[in-house]
Amino acid sequence: MTEKKIRIKVPKENKVRAELQKEIGSVCPFCDNEEVGHFEIHHIDENPSNNDTGNLLLLCSTCHSKITKGDISQLETLKKKIELMKSPIVSKSAGQKVVNFNSKIKNAIVGDYNNVSINQAKPAKPKYPQGCVGFETTKANYIGHLVKRFNEYKEYEVGKGNVKYAVFSAHLKKQFKLAPTRTLYNLPIERFGELVDYIHLRINSTKLAKIKGHGHKNYSTFDEYSKEYG
Ligand SMILES: [Zn+2]
Repeated sequence: MTEKKIRIKVPKENKVRAELQKEIGSVCPFCDNEEVGHFEIHHIDENPSNNDTGNLLLLCSTCHSKITKGDISQLETLKKKIELMKSPIVSKSAGQKVVNFNSKIKNAIVGDYNNVSINQAKPAKPKYPQGCVGFETTKANYIGHLVKRFNEYKEYEVGKGNVKYAVFSAHLKKQFKLAPTRTLYNLPIERFGELVDYIHLRINSTKLAKIKGHGHKNYSTFDEYSKEYG
């Protein structure tokens, strides 16, 4: 934990501190330390510029360093904060209190006066479902390889830097009747061969391919490609 963070002084620190001290009943929420005068303000989401009181917890320096070292987890700290916020003795203000996080916490506990809920990040779904070209990595990469090759050949005609890479992909999507919100990799796997044949044809029809002539190999076949990269 040698990483330096920009620490912005808590605005109205004395007032905030008094509020936080009341919240914990002047006792460290993790141990029984009562030397509240020496307590420190901890930023639960570890974002030192998030000075929302819902993100702050007053505690003794020993427990503070335990958090910093990871001996007390962020989840435990959060739970403690919510517990304290829920306590009718300390939470005298009317209405709801919410812990606000503006950092990139994936698993967060959000609490208000009555409820505590755990928002758990969903496991990442594979981007393309089974049955799509995108689901099969080698096939997807081969399509990417061919599209790139086409654009390289096209560059010869229009000049370096003038190829609009999105144009050919958009054309292919239209040709294969894919919805605008989809990508080429959403194409059903059964149509992989058809797509490959079409791109081959388009590469072979470029000016450069014609100049190179019939005998010239403009791209690897899928078999060759998958032997090398599959
Ligand atoms: Zn403590």
